Amino acid sequence: MKDTENNFDKLSLIDNWQQVTRQMTQAGEQAKDTASDEVILLAVSKTKPAEMIATLAEQGQRHFGENYLQEAIEKISTLKSQAIGESIIWHYIGSIQRNKTRDIAEYFDWVQTVERDIIAKRLNEQRPSELPPLNVLIQLNIDNEDSKSGCLPAQLPELITTMKGYERLQLRGLMIIPAKTNTDAFSRTKQLFEAIKRDHPELTGWDTLSMGMSDDMAEAIANGSTMVRVGTAIFGSRD
Ligand SMILES: *Cc1c(COP(=O)(O)O)cnc(C)c1O
Repeated sequence: MKDTENNFDKLSLIDNWQQVTRQMTQAGEQAKDTASDEVILLAVSKTKPAEMIATLAEQGQRHFGENYLQEAIEKISTLKSQAIGESIIWHYIGSIQRNKTRDIAEYFDWVQTVERDIIAKRLNEQRPSELPPLNVLIQLNIDNEDSKSGCLPAQLPELITTMKGYERLQLRGLMIIPAKTNTDAFSRTKQLFEAIKRDHPELTGWDTLSMGMSDDMAEAIANGSTMVRVGTAIFGSRD
């Protein structure tokens, strides 16, 4: 059944979403010893219309991820004017330019792509006082590639120490986008995530390991991911 008004097929969207949640459950069951008890699904809705987001929110999907700030602000504003929008938790997962931090601090509940102190510092200063602290993940360049975004593993301890002092940020964990060739990226990131938890008991919010996308979510879940970021498998391919 084609929904001509919004130009997308509601039933197949819901079907895709249900299939992804089933695959997540299966992956968790197949790797009981290493998988986290609960894995959150972040529906990555970049380039997709607000109507698709509303359709999934009505089904109970809560977490949505966006990469492009202007597009995201339009969709967030549209959905906040509707009752269903109140249930949505917004994650910023795109790269962060210095002059975009104010909008990110004002519109989003989470940011997963913080990689250096100058950005963290600005987000901390710009988070509006009437809102709760901004949930933050540090994007980690687990492959140690010069060309890639993310904090290098060697720089991580210093960044964490600095960010601990930022009261308007709640440091929640790590996010990675590993190179396809890096076969042990998930397990090494999990080890690092656990080591930081052990070494920093004062980081009471440290509970999120964001790894796994459409193509590798089962493997990421088997290695202890607590949040998978899935776009294509839910919304279809992007232009
Ligand atoms: C687009 C994007 C995703 C989703 O990727 P799919 O392969 O479509 O599931 C996940 N994480 C980040 C950071 C992205 O930019």
